[in-house]
Amino acid sequence: MNHWTRTALKTLSSDQLRTSDTHLYRLDVPGLDGIDIYLKDESTHPTGSLKHRLARSLFLHAICSGKIREGTHVVEASSGSTAVSEAYFAKLLGLPFTAVMPRHTTCKKVEQVVRLGGRCHFVDHAAEVYSEAERLARENGGHYMDQFTFAERATDWRGNNNIAESIFRQLAEEPHPVPDAIVMSAGTGGTSATLGRYIRYLGLDTRLVVVDPENSVFYDSYQSGDASLVSQAGGRIEGIGRPRVEASFLPEVIDEMIKVPDAASIATLHWLEQILGRKAGGSTGTNLWGVLQLAKRMQENGERGSLVTLMCDGGERYLDTYYNPEWVAQHIGDISPYRNQLAVFG
Ligand SMILES: *Cc1c(COP(=O)(O)O)cnc(C)c1O
Repeated sequence: MNHWTRTALKTLSSDQLRTSDTHLYRLDVPGLDGIDIYLKDESTHPTGSLKHRLARSLFLHAICSGKIREGTHVVEASSGSTAVSEAYFAKLLGLPFTAVMPRHTTCKKVEQVVRLGGRCHFVDHAAEVYSEAERLARENGGHYMDQFTFAERATDWRGNNNIAESIFRQLAEEPHPVPDAIVMSAGTGGTSATLGRYIRYLGLDTRLVVVDPENSVFYDSYQSGDASLVSQAGGRIEGIGRPRVEASFLPEVIDEMIKVPDAASIATLHWLEQILGRKAGGSTGTNLWGVLQLAKRMQENGERGSLVTLMCDGGERYLDTYYNPEWVAQHIGDISPYRNQLAVFG
């Protein structure tokens, strides 16, 4: 092994040692009796989202696979969060980094990539990011990281403190340590793949439920089995929902999918702020809406138990969008019907 590779691996390992695990909150939901809801707070990673885990895994995987060496220009297709996290690791390792992102990406994320020394290359439509990233990498002799293909395999699915192992460890002393369901949205699909595999690996009865926003093809593909579906419209919930069925999306490990209207996701964000006193990104609203639908179902059936989902990133990045009533009225529409439905939970 050459000196650069050895040093790079040591740099990644010492960086991980300096960080800590993320919190698992138990939400205090007045309208739910005997059903505990947990929220894994992935916003506290150094780069602010669950993509911190993915970026570390992708760099490790690419370095150990001999794809990234000293000076390799790393290129990624990203709707934002992955770009921020990969920019962080590229900087740590002294590698040039370019993110190819849709032009409408939240300004805060673009700023963060640039602050971390990365470059942003914009395309007009979400569906163009893949070919453009591949082209840039090819022309620069760089490496296209390709999160959408490699997310499911770069993560150690049997453990090594992956997100699934961390959740189950943190639940160990709770009243219902084996949750009835874990709910997650899909961007790459990598997190749901890790959760689903880990549940099977442990032989648990926990169901994996994946929620999907509007303008994403994951839900329809799951129902029909057609992996060739594509959509032209871009999604409005950053980080989740895709215009094509990504290779890292593994339908076989998913027990159920729920389609969530974008207005419901945003209404749930505002509801969460009242419950937890914290702002979160749009996908957290999608996740929690799914959890609350399952909780309602359990309550109607007289069941008790627990449900888990993720706060994928914090709300500070979205003050101008999901937390701005004018933006919401213009881009999402009327969220009051969903706000009224949420009122039963408190
Ligand atoms: C990437 C992302 C997700 C989805 O996670 P995947 O593992 O890629 O499916 C959810 N929310 C946010 C904010 C994300 O950036």
